[in-house]
Parts: sequence; C-alpha cells; structure tokens
Amino acid sequence: MNSADHRGNRNGMGTVQETSKRIGFSSQFLNESLDEDVQFFLTEEGKLHTYDDLTKVNPVTPSTVLKCLQARYSAKLFYTHAGCTLVALNPFQSIPYLYSLDVMEEYHCTPQFHESKPHIFIVAEEAYRNVKGQLEPVNQSLVVSGESGAGKTWSSRCLMKYYATVATSSSVATSQNTVERIEGRVLDSNPIMEAFGNACTLRNNNSSRFGKYIQLQLDRCHLLVGASVQTYLLEKTRVAFQPTGERNFHIFYQMMKGSSTEQKKEWNVFDGQSFVWLPNANKTLEEDCFDETLGAMGHLGINTEQQRDIFRILAGILHLGNVGFSSPSEDSQTCDLEEHSKEYLQNAAELLGVAAEELENCLRVRTLKAGNQSVLKPCSRTECFVRRDCLAKVIYAEIFEWLVSFINTSICTNSSAWTNFIGILDVYGFECFQTNNLEQLCINYANEKLQQHFVSHYLKAQQEEYVSEGLEWSFVKYQDNQGCLNLIEGAPMSVFSLLNEESRLNRTSDAQMFRVRLEKELSDNGSISWDRFSQEPHFTVAHYAGNVNYQIQGMVEKNKDPVPQELINMLQKSNNNLLQKIFAKIEEQTTKGLNKVTVVSKFKNSLENLMRILHSTTPHYTRCIKPNQDCKPLTFKKEEVIMQLEACGIVETIHISAAGFPIRIPLENFILRYGLIIKYSKLKSAHNCWDSGIVNVKKHVEMLLTVVLEQDDSSPQFKDGKWTSLVHCG
Ligand code: ATP
Ligand code: MG
Repeated sequence: MNSADHRGNRNGMGTVQETSKRIGFSSQFLNESLDEDVQFFLTEEGKLHTYDDLTKVNPVTPSTVLKCLQARYSAKLFYTHAGCTLVALNPFQSIPYLYSLDVMEEYHCTPQFHESKPHIFIVAEEAYRNVKGQLEPVNQSLVVSGESGAGKTWSSRCLMKYYATVATSSSVATSQNTVERIEGRVLDSNPIMEAFGNACTLRNNNSSRFGKYIQLQLDRCHLLVGASVQTYLLEKTRVAFQPTGERNFHIFYQMMKGSSTEQKKEWNVFDGQSFVWLPNANKTLEEDCFDETLGAMGHLGINTEQQRDIFRILAGILHLGNVGFSSPSEDSQTCDLEEHSKEYLQNAAELLGVAAEELENCLRVRTLKAGNQSVLKPCSRTECFVRRDCLAKVIYAEIFEWLVSFINTSICTNSSAWTNFIGILDVYGFECFQTNNLEQLCINYANEKLQQHFVSHYLKAQQEEYVSEGLEWSFVKYQDNQGCLNLIEGAPMSVFSLLNEESRLNRTSDAQMFRVRLEKELSDNGSISWDRFSQEPHFTVAHYAGNVNYQIQGMVEKNKDPVPQELINMLQKSNNNLLQKIFAKIEEQTTKGLNKVTVVSKFKNSLENLMRILHSTTPHYTRCIKPNQDCKPLTFKKEEVIMQLEACGIVETIHISAAGFPIRIPLENFILRYGLIIKYSKLKSAHNCWDSGIVNVKKHVEMLLTVVLEQDDSSPQFKDGKWTSLVHCG
C-alpha cells in the first residue's frame, strides 16, 4: 500500500524542544525550573541524596524527583520506589550482577524483602507472596509501561525468569520431568515471539511491534505449571512498509543470516540479492539469531515440517515484495508486471504454494459482484500495489496468530491444574509522531485505558479510603481521563462508533466529510479539537500525556482492513499445508463487508477483556524510563526524563504516596501478630476483652492501642471512634 499505509512517520524523534511540544510542556519549564528546590535536597556534605523511595524526597516537585533519580543513576542505582510504583531507569548496559541467581535468591528468601534495595525482583516477590498469602490468595498483574526503548520487554523477561527460577521445587527442577520442561517452554516463547513480532526501529533495536499479556499459571503449591499469552495489535504494515532507517521483523534477517546453503537454495535466495522489504540488512544486531529461534521452536514442539512451511511462506513474502507494476501513465487504468518482476512472482507463487498465473490475476484483476453475476475489472497500478501489500500483511498476521496459538497449546496447562496466576503486561507506550493514524489512535486509547486503571485503582482508591475512614486528607488533584475515553469509545457517539458507521457504508470515504461529521457529533466533548482550514483533514485529541493530531485520510479504510476475497480463495487452495490450513478457517466475507469485525471493534473488545482481568487482580506498576534517546550507556538527559515522568503522572503518585500511610496491616493480621499484648496487660478491661474471644476485631485493636498508649498522656487519644493522630486503626 506504499506510503499511505504506515504507522506514522518515525523518522524524526525530534529535538528536545520538538518532543516537549508534543506532550504539552513549555520550553520555559525545561530551561528554568529544573534546578529549583534542589538546595532542599542536599546532604550535609552538599551531595545529592539518593533516597531509595521518591516519597522521601522533600519537597516533592518535578525537579527534586528528577535530581534524586539522576543522583541514583550516576550511582548505578537503576531502580527506585515511587510509593506503590517502581521506577526503572534503563542502564543501556549489561549489568549481569544485578540479575544473577544469587540476587534472585536474596529477594526470594529474605523475610523482610521490602527492606532490600529497590529492584524489579521486589515487585516480582511481592506479587508472588500475595498469591501465597495466608488469607485468600488473589491473582496478580504486573503492569510494565514506558515509551519505546524504555525497557518494558527487558523487565518482563526478568520477571518471567524470576518466576521460572523461584516458582519451582528444587527437587523437581533437577529431574527431567514435565514441570522443568514447562518453565523452559514458557521462557522459550520469548525468542519466538520477539523474532516474529519485534523489529529494529529508530528508537529501539529490538522494538516490540505488538502488545502482550502473559499469565503465568501457578498450582496449589505455587509452582509454575503453565502460561497463556494474549497479544494485541501486531504492526503488520511493517511487513510491506518499513519507515526510513528501520527494518522489517527480525525473523526475515535471521533467515537470511543464519540459514544453510540448502535452505537458501530452496528459498531461491542467493548472496548479494537485494529484497525491497529487507532494508538495512547489513546492520548487525544480536537479535539476528536464527539458531535461538529454531531451538525455541523445536523445544515448543513446532516440528520441522511446520518450520519448513513457515520459512517457505516468509521467503515467498520477500519475493513478493520485489514484484512491481508499471503503467503507461499516472492515471492509466491498466498496468503490467514490470519485466524484472516475473521471476520474483514465479518464486513467490512457488514458495506460497499457489499457481503463478492465479497469483498474477489476483494481484491485477478485481472481481466485482453484481447480484449473481461477477464482472472482472483490471486494477490500476496503485491498486495492484495495495493488493500485493495486503496479501503479504494478511499472510504474516495469520502466521503470527498461528504461532501464538501454537505457543498457547504448548505452554498452557488445563484449568484444573492451576489455581492462581500472575499476569505480566508489556504494551507499547504512548505514541505521537508527525503523522498519526488509526494505529496511534488505538495505541493511545490503550494507554488511556491503562492510565484510567492506574488512576482508579490507586489514586482514587487511596483517597477514597482515607475519606471513608474519616482521616483528614487534602485531595491531590489528578487528571481524570474519562472525558477522553468517552470521546474515543463512548456511547452512543464517539470516534470509534462514527468510524464503524462509516466503515459499514459501502462507499469511498471522504476525509473532509468525515471530519465535519466528527465535529457535528462530538464538538461538545472538550477533548477534541480541529483546525477547520487545514489542508489535510485531521482532529486533535487531548490525551492525558499530551495533544495528538490524527490524520483522517485513510482511517476508515484502515478500520475496514479489507482483504480481497480472491486472495483468500487462492490461499485456501495453497499446497503449502500450513497456509492452506490457516486460511481454510477464514470464512467468505460479504462484498459489502457487513459481517466483518472492524479493527477498532476487535481492539476495543480485546482491551475490555484485558481490563476486566486487570480489575480482578492486584496490580503492581513498573514505569520504565529511557534516560536518553540515543540508547547510550549511563547517559541521563534530564529534559527527556522529566517528560516521561510527567507523561505517566509519577509526581502525583509520589505526592499521594508520600502524604499517605506507608504501612497498612489488616486488623485480623494485626491482632494475630500483636494480640498477646492484650492478654498480658495489667488492665482488667483488657483481660475481659481477651477472655471474651475475638468477636469484633476492631474492638480488639482499639483495646490493644488503649493498653499500649495508656501510660503515656501525650499519646494520641481515642475519641468518638477515632484516634486523634498518628496511629490509625483501619
Ligand atoms: P518497545 O516499546 O520499543 O518494545 P521496550 O520498552 O520494550 O521498547 P526494551 O526492548 O525492553 O524496550 O529495551 C530496549 C533496550 O534497552 C534493550 O534491548 C536493552 O539493550 C536495553 N535495556 C533495557 N533494560 C535494561 C536493563 N535492565 N539492563 C540492561 N539493558 C537494558
Ligand atoms: Mg518491547
């Protein structure tokens, strides 16, 4: 589909000023205010404090928080608590001692692990102990967020390795039985999904081009017995379009670099050959590791025949990318295969297991249905390219889905074998490019949902709890993003509902008309705006992390994501077993596309499912921060860090955490631990209370506090059902 069909312009991450504008900071803030307040924040020797919890910073301002993080980064302390959130700064350098087995053991075996240095393993261990909790075990979710290159996937891998190490019984782990194999298999899902779903971009050499939620399943003894993976919105356009300076998915390069001479021969690939869809192939990346991918595939049970089918299909896609079309003039309604393309088309057809003639026809001729009659219409040159790209994208997306479901069958245990799970969420962060379209709208919508989950679960819940318990509390202002979510997904009218309505109409969508429609229906919502006189119709959404302009041109078409039926029919007859099997399940679509689920409906559904799961679990948040855009080791650019802190509302979180009560012990546990104080008290009323047994836990706790504080007149007093200060029994 050429240039119209890509995920926005990733060419420029831009200068700091440019980036700051994108997320709504004024340059004045950047230039002047970063060093304010820092005098409050020095040790007696005039050095910067390296508090391990940002709630200890005083006062809490963007500049002091930033300084603390900077001081820690210089001291090679990459993890810092921010109340309930863990901030993880990317060292961009291998720090093996930080993740060794000894370190895992230290966090796992220390009873007071909370007091150890901040670490991703604290988050892991806390979630693990919650599942093992004496009271009712609750499923856990570890939400890892941050911008591209910040370290989400790295952190998720660390978490998985932690559980694959500690959630095993040592006797089992040494013997060659199923449990040991399952841990290996769960970890092996990573290299496969990364090979097929990650790519080198301008911002990250190993950028995940899909979202992932993996649930690690634990049995009654809290051992890892299986896992299941859910993926979100693979960036399939990358197969047929790679922004300047970026690459296609890793797997293609792995094949070219790591395959044998026989394999290359089978794929009709020879040294020195150049594929259009394989840019920047001379770049050497450690991700280009074919052996590791093959090893993991074998380990998970993808047999050699299936592997062969997959790689033949992928090689076919590469040849397809070199098929071009030419026409006598720009507006000509007919076109021909370019001369050099014939061989590539032949190779592509052979590798995809279809007849070359049928492939050529499918790319060049459209079948129009009028009643029971079919009319054949030659495609214009542009249409031919669109069909070619569409074929590559649909095949790649389906292969990816097949792999994910294969992985699931291989690592998922049956529901009776596990009792609880720990979920790890690694999704793309907020995106804002020079050109943004439907993909960015979906990604930013997902981030709005997660932000709302964070706000509602943590900030709101904490404040409401204080109020309900009668504590004096001054409300911290936080940004409620419900308005923005209503705009995107609400009922009855929202950007999504209008997009779906337009997609269902079988007509060529006009961008300017669609913009007018949006304005008519949604102008009451304060989160949307537009420039009516702009040449390119667009709308601007005020996201929690800043304003983003979305281009309307092409949005409806992307939402429909149509696949010509001729292509599906052809693939259903493929003599490549895997391809044939994958496409056999795809039913015939009506030409009007009435039954087809649109991209936004599908995404909204899968996200709603995810949110339901997250709401049913205890969440733990890790915010990954990218300290510099160049991925340089140990380089801390404060302007870049501050914008990320602001975008995820970290300063608000610290405010609330710092002002709140740091330790909360449920009354039952409190009495279990300290009840004996009542028993051994000299007070008669305490004896009576103890002897009557625990009928009302709250009364017991009140008694306990009376006993403890009785002798001291300056102690807080219990009056009208409340403690005057300091100690609060809630
Ligand atoms: P994307 O959204 O693009 O997928 P991401 O947030 O998943 O980005 P990662 O791929 O996890 O980013 O990290 C980018 C790179 O940063 C890694 O390839 C690795 O080189 C480095 N990195 C991240 N975390 C660490 C760490 N804790 N120690 C050492 N290097 C790290
Ligand atoms: Mg990633």
